[in-house]
Amino acid sequence: MQSKPKELVVISGKGGTGKTSIVASFAALAEKVVLADCDVDAADLHLVLEPKITRRESFSGGKRARIKSGHCTACGKCEELCRFDAIYFDGPGNGKVGKTFRIDPIACEGCGVCAWFCAEKAIEFAPAVNGEWYVSDTRHGPMVHAKLGIAEENSGKLVSTVRKEAGAIAQQRGLGLVLIDGSPGIGCPVIASITGANLVLIVTEPTLSGLHDLGRVADVARHFEIPGMVCVNKWDLNPDVAAEIERQAQDRGLGVAGRVRYDRAVTEAQIRKQSVVEYQQDGCAGNIRQVWMVVHGELSKVNANG
Ligand code: SF4
Ligand code: SF4
Repeated sequence: MQSKPKELVVISGKGGTGKTSIVASFAALAEKVVLADCDVDAADLHLVLEPKITRRESFSGGKRARIKSGHCTACGKCEELCRFDAIYFDGPGNGKVGKTFRIDPIACEGCGVCAWFCAEKAIEFAPAVNGEWYVSDTRHGPMVHAKLGIAEENSGKLVSTVRKEAGAIAQQRGLGLVLIDGSPGIGCPVIASITGANLVLIVTEPTLSGLHDLGRVADVARHFEIPGMVCVNKWDLNPDVAAEIERQAQDRGLGVAGRVRYDRAVTEAQIRKQSVVEYQQDGCAGNIRQVWMVVHGELSKVNANG
């Protein structure tokens, strides 16, 4: 039986730290890898890896209510019961009443109370399509990624779906690593990105907000008992803060994976739809190669769960 693939998650306290360009470079350096883009609110790994979609699935994060105006008698019971103020008396009339009630699909939290109590059975309560997820081929291996619909908020569940599918593909194809581009921040999507992973790499910038974010993200990783490492990206923009980030990381029990210098080659590579390690050998690409070797060495020490 195949052993369970290991999961490496790359996260950051906020967007724009260069996390995704490091993931794209790791994808180029790793062998036998499945990529999972769990930054579903702002997915951009595809911009560099140019995935060719081979499978496309709808994603439903929950149910939504909808009033069938032809059946509504405008009794107002649903509006009275909805605790989320999602029901308005401005729906179209029908043969029985001049106006009916209407549900705002963005405000509806999908609790189902209105549908349960509508005596006329005028409320449809069905799974809502909140987005899509895809399996694709890239030049560095298979990739699972997703797109959440506008104003949709079930990204934690979508992240879990992307991770689960990536893990299944790795197992089926005998690929030993799932490389996850995690969601930024510390909310539900990032928790869904990291729970049960083997190693978390926190990418941060040498700024005071980077220092603050490191503490928050490190606390989340520690809470879920996931070993963590830190990489300071663009460290040479502020060497003192970079050193302080590494010192605080060590105090928090995190490993230091290394530093990546600021380099315009990152943008030049992106314009050419390449990861920076494909674009150049030295400069920050050399730093990323070193970080990868440290992270890879650490990964080989941890046991895959289960
Ligand atoms: S409870 Fe049913 S019938 Fe009454 S207003 Fe709401 S949808 Fe219409
Ligand atoms: S499902 Fe719940 S939140 Fe949505 S409209 Fe009905 S009562 Fe309100």
